[in-house]
Amino acid sequence: MKVVVDRDLCQGHGVCESEAPELFSVSKQGVLSILDEAPPEDLRGQVERAVRFCPTGALRIEED
Ligand code: SF4
Repeated sequence: MKVVVDRDLCQGHGVCESEAPELFSVSKQGVLSILDEAPPEDLRGQVERAVRFCPTGALRIEED
């Protein structure tokens, strides 16, 4: 799986970081870094929660 962010939608709320701290990091300025764009399957639950709870719908999973 691949994690993709739409930077036009992301507002740096950091919900994704709360749900999946190994995969997302949001700076004090509200800039999101994806720490692993191709996370292992065992993190899928975390990724799905981040996608579901992102308040702006900026995240999605693409299957490879
Ligand atoms: S939760 Fe959504 S809007 Fe907030 S930092 Fe993550 S991707 Fe961006």
